[in-house]
Amino acid sequence: MVDAPYRVLARKYRPSDFTGLIGQEALVTTLTNAFASGRIAHAFMLTGVRGVGKTTTARIIARALNCIGPDGKRTEPTIHPCGVCEPCVSIAESRSVDVQEMDAASRTGIDDIREIIEGVRYAPVAARYKVYIIDEVHMLSRQAFNGLLKTLEEPPPHVKFIFATTEIRKVPVTVLSRCQRFDLRRIDSAELATYLATLAEKEAVKVEDGALALIARAAEGSARDALSLLDQAIAHAGDGGDGDRITAETVRRMLGLADRGRVLDLFEKLMAGKVQEALADLKDLYDAGADPLAVMQDLLETTHFLTRLKVAPAAQGFFDGGSGEAKRAAELAAKLPVAALTRAWQMLLKGLFEVRDATRPILACEMALIRLAYASELPPTEKLVRDLLDSNAISPRGGEGKGEGVKPSAARPSTSSASIAAAPRLAAQPVPADVPTASIRSLQDIVALCEPRSELRVNLEHNVHLVRLEQGLIEIRPTPKAPRTLANDLQQKLRSATGERWTVSISNEAGALTLAEQKKAAHSARLESVMQEPMVRAVLDRFPGSEIVAVRDKAAEDIAAPIQSESDE
Ligand SMILES: [Zn+2]
Repeated sequence: MVDAPYRVLARKYRPSDFTGLIGQEALVTTLTNAFASGRIAHAFMLTGVRGVGKTTTARIIARALNCIGPDGKRTEPTIHPCGVCEPCVSIAESRSVDVQEMDAASRTGIDDIREIIEGVRYAPVAARYKVYIIDEVHMLSRQAFNGLLKTLEEPPPHVKFIFATTEIRKVPVTVLSRCQRFDLRRIDSAELATYLATLAEKEAVKVEDGALALIARAAEGSARDALSLLDQAIAHAGDGGDGDRITAETVRRMLGLADRGRVLDLFEKLMAGKVQEALADLKDLYDAGADPLAVMQDLLETTHFLTRLKVAPAAQGFFDGGSGEAKRAAELAAKLPVAALTRAWQMLLKGLFEVRDATRPILACEMALIRLAYASELPPTEKLVRDLLDSNAISPRGGEGKGEGVKPSAARPSTSSASIAAAPRLAAQPVPADVPTASIRSLQDIVALCEPRSELRVNLEHNVHLVRLEQGLIEIRPTPKAPRTLANDLQQKLRSATGERWTVSISNEAGALTLAEQKKAAHSARLESVMQEPMVRAVLDRFPGSEIVAVRDKAAEDIAAPIQSESDE
């Protein structure tokens, strides 16, 4: 095997003038105008994410300020440094005595700045300007910033400062306000891919377009990262010479990426709720070297792309237009509702963070996909509930005996009251039908005889503790709020309703809770019992964070209906 030649493309192709600086047109235009009009700032602040070319830009500005031209006769700064004169060459080789570079990350103190401040007083040795390039300037201490500020307020005409930072917000406003600021933008991945293609041609390396696109995407807007990834890809491909072609597959393996067609397969299965098939796909991808985090990212990009297709059918992006995948993606997008896609997005995003933080990312990835597959299967909650009921895996009331399960309501005698009968019906309990209407077996039976909202009825519900009830005899303990006529009113009512004589006696025994109290307790018990329903628990488990807001009879009847109709068939 032939050793790959050591190449550092990032260094070899570091731009030496603004024409070589890709993706920063705005900066170049502004600087060109400033140089042309002779109004060059004393201090520049270059900001942007790592690898976009801040240090490179700083060096080009230093050259532009100091270039004397190939004949050594240039007396003014130029936006097009020649690259061959002594100042240009010495700056490029970092050996110019007048251009000092300092990394504030390692030299943050006031003493380091003091050195600069002292030096500022002296004229440049050889160049037109003394240029101080301070990288990661936000790392300077407060004291150091204060020291620097005095110089920035009244800089000698022969001094220029160029600051670079990835964290502009940490730079004091007092410093910022004295600089001309340039925001270097992330380089667009298409632009980066084109740039890489030209480099590959210069290097006589054959690289598939798909491979370049993958590298450009992975570099996330950083030219430096893109170049070092291309370096790696060349090394991966073998001898890096003319023979081997760098394929998308090589790069995908190198980056731990999955094939997009297979990512689309996986996504389709997830959205169809095919958990086992999806997990098998994930395993294949993983075995082929795909990084679980990259799989999550790809699934997110797929979701994003499909959602965009819904909104704008001509959307371009994750899947190349015209490719087989793009066509399949369009078909899939047509099938999936936006709600399902946005839900997938949220679940995948949550999963992405879990995968990133997990000690075993593949496990977190599996869990996230299982959740998504399950969620995808259940569009409305209704369907979920019905499915759960249909499957025999979960029978109402779990393993408990049929009669026992309805304790909270069954403790009281059954009545015709709908609100109380609802809970037993949920558990498919037959309601006893042999209760004669005129028979008085409970306080509720008496209440049922009263006019709605009548005074007697309200008092029976709220102000009566039932102590004993037999045919013809009722013992009660009225609450202090009960009217004195209550016993008499009750006696008359019973007599007129049943045609029999009734004895109503007042007791000192505590008796049962009032009906109002019972109703309240029954409600709590019912909520509690609903919470224990396997079906309800399954819903709560499958929708993390959900809670029971209300229990309504209507819902209970709707759920009960299919069971009964099916068991009848
Ligand atoms: Zn020059």
